[in-house]
Amino acid sequence: MGDGAAPDLNRHRRPALAAMWAAAQASVTCTPRTFRTIIEPFRIHAVEPLRMTTPEERAAAIREAGYNLFNLSARDVLIDLLTDSGTGAMSRDQWAAIQHGDESYAGSPSWFIFRDAVTELFPFRHVIPTHQGRAAERILFSVMGGPGQVVPSNTHFDTTRANVEFTGAEAVDLVTAEGRDLTSMYPFKGNLDVAALDELIRARGREHVPVVMVTVTNNSAGGQPVSLANLHEVRAVCDRHGVPLFLDACRFAENAWFIREREEGQAGREVADIVREMASLADGMTMSAKKDPLANIGGWLACNDDALAESFRNMLILTEGFPTYGGLAGRDLEAIAQGIREAVSHDYLRYRIQSTAYLGEALQRTGIPVVMPIGGHAVYLDARGLLPHIPPLQYPGQSLSVALYEAGGIRSGEIGTVMFGLQSDGTEQAATMDLVRLAIPRRTYTQSHIDYVIEVCQAVAEEASGLRGYRITEQAPQLRHFTARFEPLR
Ligand SMILES: *Cc1c(COP(=O)(O)O)cnc(C)c1O
Repeated sequence: MGDGAAPDLNRHRRPALAAMWAAAQASVTCTPRTFRTIIEPFRIHAVEPLRMTTPEERAAAIREAGYNLFNLSARDVLIDLLTDSGTGAMSRDQWAAIQHGDESYAGSPSWFIFRDAVTELFPFRHVIPTHQGRAAERILFSVMGGPGQVVPSNTHFDTTRANVEFTGAEAVDLVTAEGRDLTSMYPFKGNLDVAALDELIRARGREHVPVVMVTVTNNSAGGQPVSLANLHEVRAVCDRHGVPLFLDACRFAENAWFIREREEGQAGREVADIVREMASLADGMTMSAKKDPLANIGGWLACNDDALAESFRNMLILTEGFPTYGGLAGRDLEAIAQGIREAVSHDYLRYRIQSTAYLGEALQRTGIPVVMPIGGHAVYLDARGLLPHIPPLQYPGQSLSVALYEAGGIRSGEIGTVMFGLQSDGTEQAATMDLVRLAIPRRTYTQSHIDYVIEVCQAVAEEASGLRGYRITEQAPQLRHFTARFEPLR
C-alpha cells in the first residue's frame, strides 16, 4: 500500500506468527482432519445488546404496527432478518479506517484509498462514488435510459426497475427457465437467457437497447448465482450487437464464491481473481456498498467509456456531490475500501455461504418448504406451500411473517402478493409466489441465534393449520408493502 493507506495494524506481528506457524507445522502429530461445525471466522470485539420481549409485548407491538413488520420499532425485534442491506457488522479494521477518514472537500486521501481498493477488483477507468446503489442507478439510467428504450437484465432489482421505468424506458427480465422453477437444483439459476437476449435486441433494434444489465447474485430471484460461462456468453451477444454490458454487482463476492464452488475448472482460483474476470467482461457496473462491501452505507458507478463517465459526473455533481466523494463522507470511503478487501476473504465467504445454507437445510429437514438451492444472502420460505388453507389474496406470506414475529421476535420480509399483488388499475392479483425472506446480515448473528430461528420456524410450522389470513385496511397506490396496515381475518 502506498502513501496515505490505512496502517497495517498487524505488520509487526507477522514475522513472529509466521515463525510460530512453521514450527507448529513441523511438529504436527495428530491426523489432520476437517470439522463439520461452521465457526464464525471472527470473535466478538464490541457487543450490542438484544432486548428480550414477552409474547404479550410482541402481540401488542405488532397490533399497534398494523401487522406490518416495517412499522415495528427495531427495539421490539430480537433477530432482525428483514434485510442484509447495510445491517452487517463492520470489522475492527473498518472502524480503525473510519478514524483515518479525511474530510477534505476535494481530492481527499480517503478518495484515493477508496478508488484504489475498487479498481484492484474492478479495474474500470472511471469510478464514481454515490450514497448508495440506487443513486448509481439513477445516474446511469438518466444518462442511458429514456422513452422508447428497453433495458434487459437477468432480473432487475426493484430499485433498478423503478429507476429504468422512471426515465420512461422499459425494464425486461430474461432469467433462464431454471431460475423460474422453485424446485430446480440447477447450480446457476441466476443466469441470463442468452437466446432470449439476442432475440430481444434483434426485435427491438440495437439503437433501442442502450445497455444490458446482469445482477450478481440475482437478488430478486432468490440470491442465485450467475456462472462465468454465462457472463462470457452475454458478453458475446453484447459484442455482436455493439451494446454495452453493466453489472449490478452488489453481491459480487458471494457470486464469485459460488463460481469457485460450483463451476467446472474454477475450484482452485482466488475469489479476487474470479471477480476481476467478471469485471473484465463488463463495460461498467453499479454497486451498493451496503451488501458485499460490508459497509453500512455507500455505493458506486464505474465504467470505461470517457464520454459516458463525463455525463455521469455531471449528473453526480448535480445530485450527489463532488466526484471525489460523491454522496459520502471521507470516513465512509475508508470503511468501504477496507470492507471490499475483507469481502473476498475465503474464510469469510466459506462461513457466509455455509451458514446461510445451514439455516435453509435445517428448515428443509423439518419439512418447511424452502426455495432451493439455498442462495447466498437469504433463505426463502414458501408460505403458500406451508399455508395451503390461506388463499393468496389473504396473504399467506404476511401471515407467516407475523407469526414468526409473535412466536419468537423474528422479523422477516414478505415477498409475495402484498408486495406484487396490486395492479396499476387498482385491482388485485395473486403474485407468482408467496415467499417469506429470511435475509442474513453479514457477520452479525452467531450460530446459536440461527439455531433459535430454526426452533421458532419449526414451532410456527407445527401450528401452521391454525394461522389465519389477513385483509388490508389501508394502503398506498405504489410500493404498498412498506406502509400498508392489516387486520387478521376471523
Ligand atoms: C440493494 C440493491 C440495490 C440498491 O442498492 P441500495 O444501496 O439499497 O440503494 C440494487 N441492486 C441490487 C441487486 C440490490 O440488492
